[in-house]
Amino acid sequence: MDMPNSHLPTGLRRVTVYASSSNALAPHYYDAAGRLGSVLGQAGLDIVYGGGGVGLMRAMADEALAAGAHVHGVIPAFLNTTERGHKNLSQMEVVDDMRERKHRMLLNSGAVISLPGGSGTFEEVFEALTLKRLGQFLGPIVLVNTHHYFDRMVDFLQHSVHEGFMSDMHLDMWSVVDEPEQVLEAMSTAKEWSADALNHASVSKTGILLVEGRESDEA
Ligand code: AMP
Repeated sequence: MDMPNSHLPTGLRRVTVYASSSNALAPHYYDAAGRLGSVLGQAGLDIVYGGGGVGLMRAMADEALAAGAHVHGVIPAFLNTTERGHKNLSQMEVVDDMRERKHRMLLNSGAVISLPGGSGTFEEVFEALTLKRLGQFLGPIVLVNTHHYFDRMVDFLQHSVHEGFMSDMHLDMWSVVDEPEQVLEAMSTAKEWSADALNHASVSKTGILLVEGRESDEA
């Protein structure tokens, strides 16, 4: 089945996928991960991911490869055994450490898509969100909310905005879809983001900055 490409954002070539390394999940998680791989592969997108041959990473990568995608893994040498680095990727890059991995996974990527995951996936998503907030990463960030997995994380992000730790505009940094088949549309309808985000990264009362404990209207 050919997926319609009409939803693909202009110029988008390469996407980063974050996903769980767990082999102990309910079947619907692997099913959705595989479907994401197919959707991205059929859309002609290149994929970069953590390179694991386990968990949702593997399910996504296998189906993406089957759909003809170029799949690039980035794995630290010490994890090549634990996460059983995928053996059949289009390209496998072995790096020194986790920092390098995260950096390489985002380099030249036009969008981030996260499947459900644990602490590793959370860290990756939050790094992407933080870089976007600071205007260092400008692409869409889409959470694939299989079985409502991300509901509580999204609630917490909204709570953070409500309490003033982030501002309303930061709610536009991510989008949430129920099914992998909605990811292409979510990427193309994501709110435009620019490096100017840096000027809005800190939260202040409208137009007011706190200067040495006093409010100033110089903001
Ligand atoms: P998890 O969601 O915890 O299963 O982790 C998903 C992926 O993120 C796995 O490939 C982990 O090895 C990876 N990961 C965990 N921590 C980091 C980190 N600090 N930097 C880069 N990748 C990480």
